[in-house]
Amino acid sequence: MNGFIDGHCHISASEFDKDFGEVIRKAKKAGVEGIVAVTEFKEDFEKVLSLSDQYPGFIFPSLGIHPVQNDQVNGQRAACLSDLEGVLDLVVKHANKLVAVGEIGLDFTPWYCKSKEQRDEQRQVFIQQIQLAKRLDLPVNVHSRSAGRPTVNLLKEQGATKVLLHAFDGKPSVAMQGVECGFYFSVPPSIIRSEQKQRLVAKIPLENLLLETDAPALGPEKEGRNEPSNITISCEWIAKIKNITTDEVKRQTRLNALTLFPKLSAFLKR
Ligand SMILES: [Zn+2]
Repeated sequence: MNGFIDGHCHISASEFDKDFGEVIRKAKKAGVEGIVAVTEFKEDFEKVLSLSDQYPGFIFPSLGIHPVQNDQVNGQRAACLSDLEGVLDLVVKHANKLVAVGEIGLDFTPWYCKSKEQRDEQRQVFIQQIQLAKRLDLPVNVHSRSAGRPTVNLLKEQGATKVLLHAFDGKPSVAMQGVECGFYFSVPPSIIRSEQKQRLVAKIPLENLLLETDAPALGPEKEGRNEPSNITISCEWIAKIKNITTDEVKRQTRLNALTLFPKLSAFLKR
């Protein structure tokens, strides 16, 4: 089968609990061949690992903590070093099962990250996870929001080479600096309503693009649950913008995904 690979999906999200089997069936019917399942919090790790055990060769785990974490008192806030407690050990423990480290990154949205100190600490959380991924020879699955340039710069400084920047919200010129380093960029279905993402896809070569859904977020409509089956929308929009066929987009993004996540090749034929 020559299908779609969803390079960044929150398939363990509680939004899918009530009809999980149906969501997977729909995804397969739409042509999804593999899902890279990312985490945001340490508490997600076990569920992602167990889902990948239940769907071997279809759900591929990627563990890491997101730059925005939950605080019982204040709600969402920038990740701090104490959030990393036990995380690196768990990543090492399960390294042989993992296809990547992530979702990690930088989020400088002002209401999460108010001060320079918070941004610096968020950077440290990101750096430690990048360095661990390098030691384990795993790619990183990266979030950046209101931090396109700092994220690309930090990845370069840290010597990361196997990089997926998901739903990148920066300028095309900044993205192109990542392309020069061989970074990949994944495109969610929200491209349908985002001129910024359309401009990005016009600029980034097909050889550096992957498909993703970020489900249950970043769907074609602002409200409502996104699903892995919506990956066809990302494919169609890339084809439309680049004036090529959807088959060509599917073939090349699949090849890119297998190159970036080589462990998928053990299950999916090249
Ligand atoms: Zn995500």
